[in-house]
Amino acid sequence: MPYVVTDECILCGVCVIGCPSEAITEGEIKCFIDVSLCIECGTCAENCVSEAIIFVEEEINETKE
Ligand code: SF4
Ligand code: SF4
Repeated sequence: MPYVVTDECILCGVCVIGCPSEAITEGEIKCFIDVSLCIECGTCAENCVSEAIIFVEEEINETKE
C-alpha cells in the first residue's frame, strides 16, 4: 500500500479527477485509494492541495477503533 490518504484530506476532489486509473473514491471524511487499481503514478500526491496523500515504503500498522 504505497500511496495512502491521511486525515489531512479536505475532500476537494482534485485527486479523484486526476487519477488516470480511477483508483480514488471519496469517502465521508477522506478519500480512499484502491490499491488494486492504483498504478502508483504519483499524480494524486503531486496534485493534492493539502498534502494529504503520502507515499509510504511499508505498510503502516495502524489500529483503528
Ligand atoms: S498514484 Fe496515480 S493511479 Fe494511484 S491513486 Fe494516485 S493518481 Fe491514482
Ligand atoms: S486532492 Fe488531497 S485534499 Fe483533495 S480530495 Fe484528494 S486527498 Fe483529499
